[in-house]
Amino acid sequence: MTTAFYSHADCRAHDMGRGHPECPQRLDAIHDHLIATGLTSALDMRDAPLVTLAQLAHAHSTGYVNELRAQLEPLADSGEHVALDPDTSAGPGTWFAALRGAGAAVAATDAVIDGNAVNAFCAVRPPGHHATRGQAMGFCFFNNVAVAARHALDERGLERVAIVDFDVHHGNGTEDIIAGDERVLMVSIFQHPLYPYSGAVPLGTNMVNVPIAPYSRGDVVRAAVNDMWLPRLEEFKPQMLFISAGFDAHREDELGQLGLVEADYAWITRRLVEVADSHAQGRIVSCLEGGYNLSALARSVAAHLRVLADVA
Ligand SMILES: [Zn+2]
Repeated sequence: MTTAFYSHADCRAHDMGRGHPECPQRLDAIHDHLIATGLTSALDMRDAPLVTLAQLAHAHSTGYVNELRAQLEPLADSGEHVALDPDTSAGPGTWFAALRGAGAAVAATDAVIDGNAVNAFCAVRPPGHHATRGQAMGFCFFNNVAVAARHALDERGLERVAIVDFDVHHGNGTEDIIAGDERVLMVSIFQHPLYPYSGAVPLGTNMVNVPIAPYSRGDVVRAAVNDMWLPRLEEFKPQMLFISAGFDAHREDELGQLGLVEADYAWITRRLVEVADSHAQGRIVSCLEGGYNLSALARSVAAHLRVLADVA
């Protein structure tokens, strides 16, 4: 039993234009670093399938999915780009990249529940945690983690799952979808204030939102995990953990002003593995969200994966 690593070449073909931080090279940096460090030998590399429209419907409105499809699918032939918000645009490769991103999360969920992997990481883009039930925003189109969590609950019969989000930005889309769904406990840290300027007031009692002041470092985040996340997770006893794994709280990342380093990501991951081992048969599905300094991203993903795959 190994850690499964889901990705797909289609996820590279989504391109929001020269100079955009959410770029195809992010996945190249991760892959190159895993090869250079030999970590690929500890992982089971798998191709992400396409998500189905029925699977998307567990987290998104049918109207939104149909509208997005009508907008994005023709771009493959026309070669055009369309702007969905000031930071988020779609081009010829976007529709299939988005389908692979959510498809990876669902396939990883099935693999872990079926015992075909002990846990899984999805190296996909576009990211997902800003996508709400009915809107694309903040580089995100489909909420990969929310789609997967709902798949575990609605299709696979799980009764309680946790979503953990350590991206530097608040996962407003995930909160929009799962706030009030008492089958899900969401715990997160995020810099505040920072885009999308939400999260300070949680939208449901199943949300543990921990705003972190700019320029805080790992000690502050570790204390938040110990004091705010772990007691709620222990009480909730999730049967599976989903991680919105953004690495833009890294000290070298310029999209936020937090000061995490690789050792902090390893420490957070270890705490989550302990929760999963205690309550969830070790079941974790982690999905890439942000992380825009290519070197820091690759090193942080590797630190995260070393803990998931239990290699020194
Ligand atoms: Zn982010």
